Amino acid sequence: MSDSILEEIFIKRSQQKKKTSPLNYKERWFVLTQEKIAYYDYDPDKGKRKGLRGSVDLEKIKCVETVQPEPNAPQERIQKPRRSLKAMSLTKNNSSVFALPFLPQIIYDEGPLYIFAKSEDIRNQWIKKLKEMVSFNKDLLQKYHPCYWMDGVWLCCQQEVKQAMGCKVLDNKNGKNKTPFGLKSETINNQTSEKPVRPLPPQPPEPAAPSVGMTVIAEYPYTPMTPQDLELRKDEEYTILEMSDPNWWRARDKYGAEGYIPSNYVVEAENGLERFDWYCKNMNRSQAEKLLKTENKDGGFLVRDSSKAGKYTVSLFTKGGAETGGSCRHYNICTTPSGQFYLAEKHNFSSIPELINYHQHNAAGMVSRLKYIVTNRARPPSTAGLGYGVWEIDPRHLTFIKELGTGQFGVVKYGKWQGQHDVAIKMIKEGSMSEEEFIEEAKIMMKLRHENLVQLYGVCTKQRPIYIVTEFLSNGCLLTYLREGLKQHPTPVQLLEMCKDVSEGMAYLETQQYIHRDLAARNCLVDGNGTIKVTDFGLSRYVLDDEYTSSAGSKFPVRWSPPEVLLYCKFSSKSDIWAYGVLMWEVYTLGRLPYERLNNTEIVEQVSRGLRLYRPQLANEKVYSIMTSCWFDKADERPTFEQLAVTVQDVLYDLQ
Ligand code: ADP
Ligand code: MG
Repeated sequence: MSDSILEEIFIKRSQQKKKTSPLNYKERWFVLTQEKIAYYDYDPDKGKRKGLRGSVDLEKIKCVETVQPEPNAPQERIQKPRRSLKAMSLTKNNSSVFALPFLPQIIYDEGPLYIFAKSEDIRNQWIKKLKEMVSFNKDLLQKYHPCYWMDGVWLCCQQEVKQAMGCKVLDNKNGKNKTPFGLKSETINNQTSEKPVRPLPPQPPEPAAPSVGMTVIAEYPYTPMTPQDLELRKDEEYTILEMSDPNWWRARDKYGAEGYIPSNYVVEAENGLERFDWYCKNMNRSQAEKLLKTENKDGGFLVRDSSKAGKYTVSLFTKGGAETGGSCRHYNICTTPSGQFYLAEKHNFSSIPELINYHQHNAAGMVSRLKYIVTNRARPPSTAGLGYGVWEIDPRHLTFIKELGTGQFGVVKYGKWQGQHDVAIKMIKEGSMSEEEFIEEAKIMMKLRHENLVQLYGVCTKQRPIYIVTEFLSNGCLLTYLREGLKQHPTPVQLLEMCKDVSEGMAYLETQQYIHRDLAARNCLVDGNGTIKVTDFGLSRYVLDDEYTSSAGSKFPVRWSPPEVLLYCKFSSKSDIWAYGVLMWEVYTLGRLPYERLNNTEIVEQVSRGLRLYRPQLANEKVYSIMTSCWFDKADERPTFEQLAVTVQDVLYDLQ
C-alpha cells in the first residue's frame, strides 16, 4: 500500500446519492496517499482505524473548495452539522473538538464529498495539499457550487439537478486549471503559468493563394445557367481570367470560350488530391461509413481528411461474414521521417496517388485491396446563386413538387429549378416580412457560401407572395432528425460531428461578421449524407411579428438567449455562441426542449441569476465543458466559433 501523506479524523456527510435519502454524519478516518483519499471506520474508544468504507481516486477529483453557508442561511442550517457533530462526538471525545464546522468539499465524478474538519488549520492544510495534488487533473471545474447540495437542490443557486454546472466561477484556487480554451482559463484564473493543455494538431500547409492566370481542373461538370456562364467539363483544364467575385470566376477553356464558372467547382491543377475521384475532402468518419455501406461493395474505398489535421485516412468496406452485413475499416496514411507515405509497413511511396494505386492491386496488410472507388462527387456542391450575377429568379423556371412544412413566414415547398436542380422555396406569407429591407439584404446573403450554411440561391420579388429560393436538404430539420430521424442510437462521434458542422458554418459567419440571431436546432437542416447546415441566418430581423421580435414575446427564442439579450437585447457573435451551447445541448439530449419545466418568464429570471442547463447523459465532461463555456455570464469570456471549431475537432480526435 502507498504511504500516507496526511491522516485525519473527519466527520463525513453522507452523499445523498438519491434525492430522498436522509442525511447522516459519520466519523471517519481519512488517509491521503499519492493515488487516493481513503476513509475508514473509526473506533473512538480504541482510537483505531477499522474497515475501509470508501475512497476517491485523486485523478477523478475536479475541484477542492470550502463550503460556504448559503445566502440568508437559516440558523438551523448553520447549526445542522454542528448538532450532528455533537451527537457523533458523544461517543467519547471532547465534544468541543468538533464545535465548529470547517467544511472542505471535494468534487469528483459522483458529486461533492463534504467533510468537517476539527479546526480551520486542519481544513486549510488538507485543502492546500489536495489542490496541489490535483492541479494537473483533467476536467477541473471552472465553476462550482459554493453551498451545499441538500435534499435535491443546490442551496446557492436553487438548481435541482445535481450535475448542474456550478454557479460561481473559481478564482485562482483550483490548481492550474485546464479548460478547453487555454486562454479563457487564464483569464478566469488570472494565471499565466504553463498550462498542461495538449498542443493543437499541426495545421495543414496553407495552399498557395489562387491567382489570375493559374490553371485549374474541373472537379465537377457545370451547365451554364446564364449566357454569361461557361460550361465546365469534368477533369478538363481552364485558365482563370478574373477573380473579383469570390464565388464566380471568369475563365477560359481550351477552345478559347470565356465565361463565369462557380469557383468551388474547380481546383488548382497543381493541387494534389482533389483531382482524384477517390478523394472525398470534407467527409468525416460517419459519413464515409454511411456512403460505403450504401454502396455495399466489397473492397469499396475512399480517401478522406483524417480527424488529425493535415493527415489522410483510407476508409475501406468489406463484406466479410455475410451475416454481418459488412464492416468499415479506417487506415491512417502514415509518413516516414523522410516524407514517404505508407499504409502497411515496408511499402513506401513518394505520393499518396502512387500509394493508392499500389493498394488498388495489393491488399498488403489490409483486409482487402482497394477494389472500387466510392465517391461523393455524384452530386456537385451548391453554387452561390443560380448563375453568375443572378439573384432574381424567374418563377416560371420553378416547378413545385411537394410541401415540406410551414414556418414563421408560411409554407416551404420542395421543387426543381429549370426542371433539374433541387431547390427549397419559401413562399413568404404577405404581411409576415419587411420585404423591401429583406430584398436588399438578400444580395449580401447570396454571397455567403460555406458547406455548412444552407445556400441562398435567389429570390422572386416581382410577384406576391415573394419567394426565397434556397438549397434543398433531403433530411429536413435537425430538430426533427434528432427526435425521430436517427435510425439507430447515435454514436458519440456522430453527435460531435453534428456539432462540428454547425461550429464550422458559424465560424464562417463570424469571419463575415454576420450575426445569426436565431441559432437553434430548428434552424439547422440535414442533407442526404448527414451533414448539418445552418439556415435562416439574419432572417429574424425581417420578421413582422411582435411575438417573435420582442424579447417579451411568446415566440422569442428565450431558451437560446444569453442574459445580455434577455435583459438589453444585445445581439453579437457572442450571443450566437450562447445559442450554440444550447444547440449542442439539444443535440446531446436528442432534441429535448431546453429548460423543459420552466416558462419564458421563469427562464429570464433564473438564467440571469446563474441557472444553466444540466449535463445531458450522452455528453461526457469534456463535451459538457464546451457547452458550459458558451454560457459564461460575461459575453467576452465565451470562446469564438473559431476556437470552438478547433476544440470540437480536438475532442473528436480523442474519440477516434
Ligand atoms: P421559417 O424559417 O420560415 O420559420 P422553416 O425554415 O422552419 O421556416 O421551414 C419549415 C420547415 O420546412 C422546416 O422545418 C423544414 O422541415 C422544411 N424546410 C425548410 N427549408 C428547407 C430546406 N432548405 N430543405 C429541406 N427542408 C426544408
Ligand atoms: Mg426557421
